[in-house]
Amino acid sequence: MRYFYDTEFHEDGTTIDLISIGIVAEDGREYYAVNKDADWDRIADHQWLMWNVIPHLPLMTDPAWKPKAQIAREVKEFLLPAHGPRPTPDDPELWAWFCSYDHVVLAQLFGTMMDLPQGIPMYTNDVRSLVDWTGVERLPKQAGTEHDALADAQHVKTMYEDIIRAQADQ
Ligand SMILES: [Mg+2]
Repeated sequence: MRYFYDTEFHEDGTTIDLISIGIVAEDGREYYAVNKDADWDRIADHQWLMWNVIPHLPLMTDPAWKPKAQIAREVKEFLLPAHGPRPTPDDPELWAWFCSYDHVVLAQLFGTMMDLPQGIPMYTNDVRSLVDWTGVERLPKQAGTEHDALADAQHVKTMYEDIIRAQADQ
């Protein structure tokens, strides 16, 4: 099962702190959460985040605001609904856009690299690499709000599907 995801985060060259995560599964299931435990004082001092990311978050009273430990539990459940001891087609395949930071944010939900739950891949595939590999450079315009993690995740899925379709037509 393919999962397309995006995270918004605060990073300062040393630490990387989850703000929000959106995941869209190949079968249409969706997950979205905002990290209650982020360092909101530091985020408030970050002009780019305040202008580009924070306006798209739901109100703090919204149930999407959750403690990081709860997000970790729910993401694990979301990605591994049918995970057993052997690899199956249902095992997760992760995709994101410029995925390197997103993968670290996702992995650090669970702690260190060694704490990543069994069955969650230790890498994320980059749709940006798919552009290079396939030569398909005409990408669809984003329909939803940019820097809203769920809208961005939906767009990652759209881009992936468009590239695969265009490649088949080549
Ligand atoms: Mg984003």
